[in-house]
Amino acid sequence: MDLRNCSKCGRVFAYVGNEICSRCATSDIDDFKKVKEYLYDNPGATIVEVSEETGVDEKKILRYLRESRIEIREADNLLLDCERCGKPIQSGRFCDRCVTEMHKEFTAAVAPSKSKEELKVKDPGKRDTKMYIADIRKKYK
Ligand SMILES: [Zn+2]
Ligand SMILES: [Zn+2]
Repeated sequence: MDLRNCSKCGRVFAYVGNEICSRCATSDIDDFKKVKEYLYDNPGATIVEVSEETGVDEKKILRYLRESRIEIREADNLLLDCERCGKPIQSGRFCDRCVTEMHKEFTAAVAPSKSKEELKVKDPGKRDTKMYIADIRKKYK
């Protein structure tokens, strides 16, 4: 059994893929529910208001939003900024336009460099092998 210290409370627990123990995981879900319910009842609330009313840490609420665990459908709830262009967004890290653009850039950047690297690796690799064999031959002559 893999025993670890919970990254939140420090208690030793049986590791099953989570960095936090089951007790902390449960309280995390409870907090998440509280935040979600509060936002459901108060669609225009700010993070500070939500934090004060639910007692849940502001950082935690932000994390929920970043992880897209909270989906806010009302247009008033633009609590986050796109990390790329600064446009207000409802959840996640980037606005829809940046996600599309980044995906394009990523695909364009990755495709050619990958084939270049493959060529680089193949060429000197062959030469190295030849040299190695030549060295051995010299030694045994
Ligand atoms: Zn814990
Ligand atoms: Zn953006």
